[in-house]
Amino acid sequence: MADALINLIGAILSNAAVLSLLVGAAIVYMGSCIVKPYRACKACHRTKESHSTLFKGAFGPCPACKGIGHHLRYGARLLGRKL
Ligand SMILES: [Zn+2]
Repeated sequence: MADALINLIGAILSNAAVLSLLVGAAIVYMGSCIVKPYRACKACHRTKESHSTLFKGAFGPCPACKGIGHHLRYGARLLGRKL
């Protein structure tokens, strides 16, 4: 069963059309990561603030992004970009 699956994956990857499509998608993604290396923080939606649920009006820096408001994309990290 596992051998059949490996053979199927091998057959798909050896297909030139599929391979060129995957390589093309990877090139587009990495190019996008060069031009736009950040993604918005999902916890604070780029407000950089975390609001207290207990005390009204109290807030501090977002703990998820450490008050920056964005995260580095995975591809940009692979390219050696820093925050
Ligand atoms: Zn945040």
